Amino acid sequence: MMKSVKDVGQANLCIGCGICEAMASDQVIKIKLGEDGFYYPHLNEGLEKQEPWQEIKQVCPGMLVNQDQTLSTQDEKLWGPIAQSWVGYSTDPEIRWQASSGGGITGLLQFLLEKKIVTGVIHIGKSLSNPLTNDVFLSRKREDIIRNSGSRYAPASPLTSIIKILQDKVEKIAFVGKPCDVAALRAYLKLYPQYQEQIVVLITFMCAGTPSMKGTEHLLKTLKVSSDNLQDFWYRGKGWPGKATAIDQDLREFSLSYNQSWGTILNKHLHFRCKVCPDGMGTIGDITFGDAWIEENGYPSFEEQEGKSLIIARNNQGKNFIEQAITQGYLEVDNYYLNNLEKIQPYQAQRKKLIASRILALRLTGLFYPQFSGFYLIDNSLSVSIRENINGTLGTLERLSDKNKFNYFVFKIFSILSLTIQKIGKLFKYFK
Ligand SMILES: Cc1cc2nc3c(=O)[nH]c(=O)nc-3n(C[C@H](O)[C@H](O)[C@H](O)COP(=O)(O)OP(=O)(O)OC[C@H]3O[C@@H](n4cnc5c(N)ncnc54)[C@H](O)[C@@H]3O)c2cc1C
Ligand code: SF4
Ligand code: SF4
Repeated sequence: MMKSVKDVGQANLCIGCGICEAMASDQVIKIKLGEDGFYYPHLNEGLEKQEPWQEIKQVCPGMLVNQDQTLSTQDEKLWGPIAQSWVGYSTDPEIRWQASSGGGITGLLQFLLEKKIVTGVIHIGKSLSNPLTNDVFLSRKREDIIRNSGSRYAPASPLTSIIKILQDKVEKIAFVGKPCDVAALRAYLKLYPQYQEQIVVLITFMCAGTPSMKGTEHLLKTLKVSSDNLQDFWYRGKGWPGKATAIDQDLREFSLSYNQSWGTILNKHLHFRCKVCPDGMGTIGDITFGDAWIEENGYPSFEEQEGKSLIIARNNQGKNFIEQAITQGYLEVDNYYLNNLEKIQPYQAQRKKLIASRILALRLTGLFYPQFSGFYLIDNSLSVSIRENINGTLGTLERLSDKNKFNYFVFKIFSILSLTIQKIGKLFKYFK
């Protein structure tokens, strides 16, 4: 049984959102980088009694995530609620160029700030002192949001200072975070509805997972640049998808394509929590953005081109903001009908369908497993073959057995069982 944020960290389920630090104060809980390159919550041993665990465990995305809307169609059960969807980009050429995909997020933020719908944006960006680390920013101007645009494929804690800002009661905030960050904030606002009005909009993006800092180190090693000799570094952007680029102290530029950087390096360093994430599609915010990849022979193409963002309004409020940003000339869009979404976001669809089988592995080993509700995980698991589900369970058991020797026995039994089923399946040409 989980009794503290320490247990969430030990179970490899802390994704570092930072809301526990905000709820307890950084004197009591501090999010720090661990040796494995991921964030962990550190509880000040002298102040353990001050940990507001009863409240934290109702919002921590390592413990639980709830998707409250009832969904009826198979598309919605897979992709989450959809009030309307578009493909588009920011009409500000600098934003479109600088941002991750089409600058949809930053274009919307520009509209919200310039039309004074919000007073500030809470989001993360490259630290001012070290281009490899991420810090939280309260952005108020066009140049701030442009500086903090782009995807940061490394741990980030966007919620560490949110409560202080809410308690001051002066700001109207647009919050941008990963789906798990947004889920934590949504749950917090349910617990403390007095702050709901101050969070004007929750903006998120499709998320395949957070790589550890080891991923970034691996990337720098491949680029043959030392972190001590670094002037600037970004993962993508400046084009779509843009290249992972390091600039050294002599202003020499070293870069790798998105296909190489994400596809062969960073995605090998993902957090365990991301492997069992039911909400990579970002269904809990008001608006979700993503890459509106061009489909080529049934797969997404990562060829460099002018940026385009996928935009999904999750509710009428989100839809209203996007429509206003379009009418006021901040976003240029076409309607999008989701018909090829699975082809341009294959990883998202595949992972969602396998989450039930991966969670089964946690349940079988008696390890703690997070409570996810409203994601139709069983329905989704029924849309893939039995073999894929067994492999999902086995793969997770294998990963767990690396860390927990006592699981190895269970893993072996499952391997034998799976091989037997697959052999019988092949024999009867029954399984796919
Ligand atoms: C870890 C990660 C995984 C992703 N996986 C996918 C995926 O599977 N499929 C897909 O379509 N898109 C994915 N994206 C999102 C994609 O890279 C773009 O962010 C998205 O298309 C929006 O682009 P944009 O041009 O509208 O955003 P921009 O205008 O560039 O704005 C990006 C915003 O995201 C915030 N942000 C960046 N990195 C982080 C972070 N690590 N944590 C919290 N906030 C952050 C920034 O503060 C900024 O406000 C991922 C992004 C990240 C960071
Ligand atoms: S609240 Fe966030 S930072 Fe704290 S333990 Fe949970 S996931 Fe980690
Ligand atoms: S995959 Fe899920 S848990 Fe991992 S960073 Fe993205 S939203 Fe958070």
